[in-house]
Amino acid sequence: MYRVEQLIGGVWGAGGAGGELTVHDPADGSPFGTVPVATVDEVAKAVEAARELATEWAATPTAQRAELLAQAADAVAAGAEELAAATTAEMGKPLGDARGGVAAGVGTLRQYAELGPLRGGRTLHGGVDAIDFMTPQPRGVVAAITPWNDPVAVSCGLLGAALVTGNVVLFKPSERTPVTGWLLARLLDGVFPAGVLSLLTGGAEVGAALAAQPVDVVAHVGATATGRAIAAACARSGAKALLENGGSDPLVVDAGVDPGWAAGQAALGAFANAGQLCTAVERIYAHRDIAEDFADALVERAGALVVGPGRDPATELGPLVDRRHRDQVHGQVTAAVAQGATLRAGGVLPDGPGAFYPATVVTDCRQEMTLVREETFGPVAAVVTVDSFSEALRCAADSPYGLAATVLTGSMSHAQRAWRELPVGTVKVNAVFGGAPGGAAQPRRGSGHGFGYGPELLDEFSTVKAVHLEPPAGGHW
Ligand code: NAD
Repeated sequence: MYRVEQLIGGVWGAGGAGGELTVHDPADGSPFGTVPVATVDEVAKAVEAARELATEWAATPTAQRAELLAQAADAVAAGAEELAAATTAEMGKPLGDARGGVAAGVGTLRQYAELGPLRGGRTLHGGVDAIDFMTPQPRGVVAAITPWNDPVAVSCGLLGAALVTGNVVLFKPSERTPVTGWLLARLLDGVFPAGVLSLLTGGAEVGAALAAQPVDVVAHVGATATGRAIAAACARSGAKALLENGGSDPLVVDAGVDPGWAAGQAALGAFANAGQLCTAVERIYAHRDIAEDFADALVERAGALVVGPGRDPATELGPLVDRRHRDQVHGQVTAAVAQGATLRAGGVLPDGPGAFYPATVVTDCRQEMTLVREETFGPVAAVVTVDSFSEALRCAADSPYGLAATVLTGSMSHAQRAWRELPVGTVKVNAVFGGAPGGAAQPRRGSGHGFGYGPELLDEFSTVKAVHLEPPAGGHW
């Protein structure tokens, strides 16, 4: 059993008077770690302590901060196996995926270590005797509030970008993956000056207390409802809200594509990480011409997945993060079936320990069903049959979210329409996952706002100052 400690003002083991949480392994329900809960007062003290260091850290040369970040990347790489095992034990994903998440996090830290010092400002052309320029500066104190579904990759992005741009950071990992967050914070704190990074733990109330503090940025990756509460808190405090939130990504399957191949793409998009990805395929619009063959092939793929604990190397589909979440997923599936959808695979709560949920295929779905409109965040493929590509695009665009979308089509004109018309941050054609390194998008609608990834994240954590210098009294210096 791990015993997580908080890091406040450079001191490990500080605070925790708000009680204690226990994290359980979703594969078998066994306890994995205990976590202190911060009080509102502790959160306030942590912010105060961080603020005291902000000026000094901001004045540290960028190259020095970047060198420390590069060392932090090495430290995380050295601790990768423990981080991956903790991720699997806390949220259930197959160990290979967890290792991939840690490797992605290390890659992001290395990228920001390289890119941080390369960023510059602009010189301006003012009066001949004047010096005019624009220069990026750190924003100051950043609260980074992160989710559980890919805890290392997501946290490394926010922490790396905020630290290398000269901000002090208060890190609040998810209460569902606090051991992973604590292990990561320990590795980073081993490299950075004491107090530059703080770790606060606990549940939603700790995140809310942090978001209400006089910080400069609240960067939140997580659910849309949380993002909205954080945006409201930031409106009151004047902090900048950077929000990467939920999605309900559509997959459009056009007429004329190979239904077997399309089913492979759909299965990957809907069932990877047990559907617990912000960019998971949440709803599928299949053209009537191929809908039946596509559904048959998808049902076959759902049934073929190897289900088991994430630590078993053969496992392809691990458990959901916990039973509370499983109840939500199952509730959406049963409601859709009660409203006339057809259950073609899965959809039944298994006996036995843990929070397992089978890969589920539901056809004859309709646009207005909650299963289609809302984020399900489980291994569920909801299929709506459509009569034309135009209808598919219209339905795909009709969503409270705007994260990403995928279109499977052999038609270049359909592909062009898709990327031009869909109101989402990322459009993928003929591949549910993938994309060039360094890509970053702005989510839309309920999926958040601002760049949560890529080189642009460095700009999000910086502010720009315009400077005008003139010699005194119109003379000389
Ligand atoms: P969540 O919003 O419930 O929790 C995320 C973090 O916010 C946790 O640390 C939690 O304690 C904290 N929190 C909860 N309520 C809060 C409040 N009122 N004020 C401040 N902080 C609060 O989300 P989750 O369940 O951990 O994560 C799943 C969600 O994250 C899904 O919706 C998924 O789509 C989304 N997500 C989005 C991206 C992206 O890049 N867009 C990436 C990963 C996950």
